Amino acid sequence: MNEVIEEINRLRKEKNAVILAHNYQIGEIQDLADYVGDSLGLSQEAAATEAELIVFCGVHFMAETASIISPNKKVLIPDLHAGCSLASTINAEQLRDWKQKHPGAVVVSYVNTTAEVKAESDYCVTSSNAVKVVQSIPPEKKILFLPDRFLGAYVEVKTGRQMEIWNGACHVHEKIGDVNFSDAKAAHPNAEFLIHPECGCSSSCMLKAEVYFDCKNVHIFSTEGMIDFVKQSPSNEFVVATETGILHRLKKVKPDASFLPLSENAVCEYMKMITLENLRDSLLYEQYEVKVPDDIAERARTPIERMLKIV
Ligand code: SF4
Repeated sequence: MNEVIEEINRLRKEKNAVILAHNYQIGEIQDLADYVGDSLGLSQEAAATEAELIVFCGVHFMAETASIISPNKKVLIPDLHAGCSLASTINAEQLRDWKQKHPGAVVVSYVNTTAEVKAESDYCVTSSNAVKVVQSIPPEKKILFLPDRFLGAYVEVKTGRQMEIWNGACHVHEKIGDVNFSDAKAAHPNAEFLIHPECGCSSSCMLKAEVYFDCKNVHIFSTEGMIDFVKQSPSNEFVVATETGILHRLKKVKPDASFLPLSENAVCEYMKMITLENLRDSLLYEQYEVKVPDDIAERARTPIERMLKIV
């Protein structure tokens, strides 16, 4: 394995490449990446880097986004099959039909969408800035929010805005539900609970926090929000509701603390398609390039740039 890492390190220097890794990547890839972060941070890094070659250790829509904002750079993904079940819940044609039913509405798309869907959108958001972006839209405007229904419900609660919400969900996060939450709450009464807004339990947690019981130690965060919270928290026990790859990074931030997944099964098989071997091959053979057709990239750039401006 060390040989593969040595080869990766040699090739990245030779080719002036930057390796970007999502928080859900395996630990070995997080450890050697130039930057590890959430979708928003990765997009910002892709926009800012001076490297000529970007190797994206994440899923396809993330590499597409990097290619759209850095059209003169070569963007690679080590496995073209690394997709996203949430992004697959809506395509451009379905969005055009939805828009026709709501003329004049503002379309707010989560970054977990294809380039074609972004090209039909007014704004892109990530879980870090979705609330701020929706707050910036004039109150009289109708909003079509897509594709995640749990994130949409979270944004509605936080902003007090009623939106039309697409009925999509991520197959990993939607399974993190109420049963896991109640069991873990009983087993770890003093832990801080960190919950991603894509999770199936996020809506009911919000409801419980506000209506049923004191949920002071329940926090709904993007993955980067979780990292920031742990850095400043005096607590040493955390229960984490999102894809389990984040635990590696959290442990590095606070090595003496205990981090438990709310669901051990919350593993995204698409994120885990990226391995040290295919990362090495990606650098070696400069495969697989992700390029978005110019006309789509042109239209998708505006909502992405709006997303990058509101942080
Ligand atoms: S965890 Fe869910 S939203 Fe994230 S890449 Fe995997 S399928 Fe998509």
